[in-house]
Amino acid sequence: MIFVSVRDQVPGERRVALTPGVVKRLIGLGAEVRLESGYGEGNHLSDAQYEEVGARFASRDALLAEADVLLALNAPEAETLSSLREGATVVSFLDPFRRTDLVTLARDRKISTLVMELIPRTSYAQKMDALSSQASLGGYAAVITAADRSPKAFPMMSTPAGTIPPARVFVVGVGVAGLQAIATAKRLGARVEAYDTRPVVAEQVQSLGAKFVELDVGETGQTEQGYAKELSEEQLAEQRRQMAKVVAGADVVITTAQLFGRPAPRIIDAGMVAGMKPGSVIVDMAASTGGNVEGSVSDEEIEINGVRIIGIANLPGFVARDASEMYASNLFALLEHAWNDETKQLDLAREGDEVLGGCLLTHDGAVRDERVAAVLPGGAQ
Ligand code: NAD
Repeated sequence: MIFVSVRDQVPGERRVALTPGVVKRLIGLGAEVRLESGYGEGNHLSDAQYEEVGARFASRDALLAEADVLLALNAPEAETLSSLREGATVVSFLDPFRRTDLVTLARDRKISTLVMELIPRTSYAQKMDALSSQASLGGYAAVITAADRSPKAFPMMSTPAGTIPPARVFVVGVGVAGLQAIATAKRLGARVEAYDTRPVVAEQVQSLGAKFVELDVGETGQTEQGYAKELSEEQLAEQRRQMAKVVAGADVVITTAQLFGRPAPRIIDAGMVAGMKPGSVIVDMAASTGGNVEGSVSDEEIEINGVRIIGIANLPGFVARDASEMYASNLFALLEHAWNDETKQLDLAREGDEVLGGCLLTHDGAVRDERVAAVLPGGAQ
């Protein structure tokens, strides 16, 4: 089976789907691995390092034409999908609820897609969970970026010239990214508060040495898969009203609130931004999915009345080497799970397999996930 990976076409992307270590392990399974020249350049990985472990290089066009399986990090663009032969498989993030064009193209061209966002959040599948691995590094990078932009030092410092109080950091949304943001801000010495609509996370917040902010917004909770339930407009307005004071007192606010398959909730409105001190920093980790913060712009840093709002989408890309290692390792775990040792092929449509049943989105010309099928043009498959 020929596994192919080509250079990512998202501008500025330095992460790669395959590291030399994972190429070696894939070849160990009995697959061939072929890459585009200059594949790991942005990540300081030379072609020679990949060749040493058995990868072969060819032109992008030749690779796409011969691929049995295309391995990628970001969703391959339509042109790339169209260059694959019918029946080929793609394994990558696909952003399936928004990139419905790619889902229908894959369906119509009978391309099978294993979609990283749809891997079930179970203990068994943790090693394949690229959403978590990238969110965790994103949470870290969000705090480091905020610290860089903030005019305040994070730790308390007692000096002969006086005592500097610790920076106040407020984290909204305590999933994987939020937890890492809290831990990072604590390590830097900040005074950290956090809030989430899922009350179950209060204990995790406290165990990291941060304070959980209690807000009364009526019934909240989580779905069976552990994702937050969507709040009503009235609940969100109440949440903003009660949260405004905490936001106004913060030097840094990191928002990470997401709703699976839905636009991100609006957590901070223009009035709350206006209530912050000039020099304060907000990192909106949801800027690319609609934004938690009114006025934030995906992939831009803007300033409103002296408050800097950072909407950089690819925060894990700031730590591209570690993010690539983790993604490649997630990818390998998924491929190893789907690998049939006897046939030396991927076995995708395995009956009763929870992982593949969850993340195999298009196969044999059909869309298999009802939630995604429901948002496709025309509604059904
Ligand atoms: P996510 O990225 O979907 O959302 C981030 C956080 O935003 C969540 O904690 C959510 O509750 C919160 N949020 C949503 N609306 C909000 C609002 N209005 N105000 C404040 N906060 C709001 O979440 P995630 O990091 O992908 O994690 C989702 C769930 O999956 C969590 O329960 C997590 O513990 C669980 N999980 C399980 C596994 C596993 O078992 N393998 C792995 C990763 C995550």
